Amino acid sequence: MRLLHLFTAGLLVVILSSTNQAAVRPAALNRNELGQSFLLQISYEHTTIGFNTSRSRVVTFHRDGAVLHMLDVSDADGHDDSRVLATIPIRDETGSTLDVDLNEGFDTVFREEDRTGEDYYGRIDTHDGRAFRLFQRKPLSVSYHEATLVFDQEARTSDGDSIVVHYYLSPYHPRRDFRPFEMKNLQRFGFYETYPQWRSGAWVLYAMKFDIDKPIVFALSSDVPDRYRSAMREGVLYWNQAFGRPALQVVDAPRGVRAPSFDYNVIQWVSSGAFASTSYIQSDPLTGQILHAHIFVTPETTVDGDLEQQQDHLRYVVAHEVGHALGLRHNFAPGGATSVMDYFRSAQILQIGKGIHADAPALAYDTAVVQHVYLDAPIDLNTLPPFCTDSQPGCLPFRSAPRESNAVR
Ligand SMILES: [Zn+2]
Repeated sequence: MRLLHLFTAGLLVVILSSTNQAAVRPAALNRNELGQSFLLQISYEHTTIGFNTSRSRVVTFHRDGAVLHMLDVSDADGHDDSRVLATIPIRDETGSTLDVDLNEGFDTVFREEDRTGEDYYGRIDTHDGRAFRLFQRKPLSVSYHEATLVFDQEARTSDGDSIVVHYYLSPYHPRRDFRPFEMKNLQRFGFYETYPQWRSGAWVLYAMKFDIDKPIVFALSSDVPDRYRSAMREGVLYWNQAFGRPALQVVDAPRGVRAPSFDYNVIQWVSSGAFASTSYIQSDPLTGQILHAHIFVTPETTVDGDLEQQQDHLRYVVAHEVGHALGLRHNFAPGGATSVMDYFRSAQILQIGKGIHADAPALAYDTAVVQHVYLDAPIDLNTLPPFCTDSQPGCLPFRSAPRESNAVR
């Protein structure tokens, strides 16, 4: 759901005022790992764009004298279009490590995000190369989460807006037992997709999805008002009805933990935002395994009705955003309510919310596609509800179903 609302950058202020730049140490990279592959994941908070992610990439480093070139090798199985994403000065070195100036090297953010597919916004066989430069860059923090280096940076864009950029850099070790799901087309259901990859003589695209050998855990931020917490929890757990098993869990995020978090898939309550609610993923760009999800919900979602109606509305909103976080794209096909990935008018939303509260079975499309993509269950195309999604011709929310007489003709 991406309903536009006026944005003010409450989040940004929190970060900028709570850090001490003088204490930031340089990032250290192990020399003997430099030629290996790394996973680079980037998200940012911008005063007008709001929160967003930049498409995850597999990168490697080549030393050239006093600098490291960071090369994009995400598409290495296809065309040879490795390219330099950043040139990073080496400030110091020991026998085993290089101290590098990531703040100096990381000066550009690409707009393409992980929440994408090759058809996205009409794009076929091309990448969205749009990017913006970062000026007046300052390091905010460097920290390590097991093998992942986390670097936070503040900067200004060319029009002077404030931005905070978060970088996760880790040795690239795709999970061996993760089973990618190949997307053949977008005719009957839709997930966000990986880069196209050349496999056994053909191009393949994989669906973005979590690994469900372990529960998928979402953490409700401590900012969520008490009167909404159980409704939002139920919105997450809607998907357990679709999976037919307890694949998802909800915990309370520790105080101070907010989206984006390295450790948690946070459902963040924000005072305002570019959208009433929105959802982002960060994935393995080759296998499609979703590694981080960030969901933002604003009080705009609760302005109408009494408390019970607000809670019903939130149940639907959270189920919809968690659906995106599980990799599902919108389904705007006209007809009855067959998926929380559609947009609905108020009465229908409240009805869906009540159903979630009552532990009603999940809607038919949602159940069929998560069981197919996540659990390898067969899908019955005869009973699967219709599907259409963003960027497909004529596919818009709130279309009415064709009358039977028209359909017959
Ligand atoms: Zn949506």
